[in-house]
Amino acid sequence: MGVSLDTIDGAMTLKFDVQPTANPTPPTARTEKLANPGFGRVFTDHMAVVRYNPAKGWHGARVESRASFSLDPATAVLHYAQEIFEGLKAYKRDDGGVNLFRPDANARRFRNSAERMAMAPLPEPVFIEAIEQLVRIDRAWVPGGEGSLYLRPFMIANEVFLGVKPSAEYIFAVIASPVGSYFKGGPAPVSIWVSENYTRAAVGGTGTVKCGGNYAASLRAQAEAIDRGCDQVVFLDAVERRYIEELGGMNIFFVFDDGSLSTPPLGTILPGITRDSIITLAKESGTRVREEPYTIDQWRSDAASGRLKEAFACGTAAVISPIGKVCSAHGDFTINGGAAGPVAMGFRKKLVDIQYGRAADAHNWTRKVL
Ligand SMILES: *Cc1c(COP(=O)(O)O)cnc(C)c1O
Repeated sequence: MGVSLDTIDGAMTLKFDVQPTANPTPPTARTEKLANPGFGRVFTDHMAVVRYNPAKGWHGARVESRASFSLDPATAVLHYAQEIFEGLKAYKRDDGGVNLFRPDANARRFRNSAERMAMAPLPEPVFIEAIEQLVRIDRAWVPGGEGSLYLRPFMIANEVFLGVKPSAEYIFAVIASPVGSYFKGGPAPVSIWVSENYTRAAVGGTGTVKCGGNYAASLRAQAEAIDRGCDQVVFLDAVERRYIEELGGMNIFFVFDDGSLSTPPLGTILPGITRDSIITLAKESGTRVREEPYTIDQWRSDAASGRLKEAFACGTAAVISPIGKVCSAHGDFTINGGAAGPVAMGFRKKLVDIQYGRAADAHNWTRKVL
């Protein structure tokens, strides 16, 4: 039986059955883990899980002890990579409460990803409720200071069938991982490698959605970047191999000497929520922002002439990473003398202050969970 994409009956009113773990991490062990969590290796005690099948629609919503999934070896996701995910963070405010940042935008993007990957779209209120339930039960895991609780919602095709078709069954889950400040002692500029051998996305492909397969396809290029002594890879368009697209997991901005910004247009890139937030903040402060194609050759010559002042990457995990150096098979060039620039740092502070509830939130981007 195929998936009926409009059958989401009853899902708007899903109630989560909350079953606290019988074996919570002892507070001393938790404090130890929170002291230096790094990124993506420490996990909280619980997870949220919701299941889908054609007969019941979305059902079985639970918050329970974090545990392994048991999957039949013929489970569809293991063979055809029908998988999508999201990434957002919970931030501890000075008053001890906890904010989410634009979870509605993640919920919408998750639904778009599901539709592109022929998966059952999860109603946006269920996505947000799952996250809020998990943050509430694992509130002790939200780090203070510049740390945050990284939330990873994801969905896998769970039908046991080797035929190539959209799975009839899905598991949606949310796990949480406390993370420290991405950069200790302020953001260090990153060096990036221009991938000329591998592309990330083509028109009509999956570049605009957050599916695991995009990352699988980017790893070889990222490994090449590391081999060349760079931190990250930047991809060019798949047709002309000239236009800058984005990094493996972050969007990119350019800052010019007239104060304007430019960023690659939507189409084959991932529509980042950080990207969108920066465009909004820039425009309301009177900064001109162009969403337009920009070539690697133009970038190189603008860096040489001084027309280009800064470049930075952006995404939920690191917020903003200044780009200090660009390396390619055709030579290297530095930006802003290899240092973090004031425009990148200014946007970084504006965003972080809103996320932690320290600055006015004119767009209603933050959502108080606690
Ligand atoms: C998640 C992601 C981004 C950044 O999106 P945010 O919503 O800002 O976190 C950029 N590029 C890719 C490929 C991504 O997967």
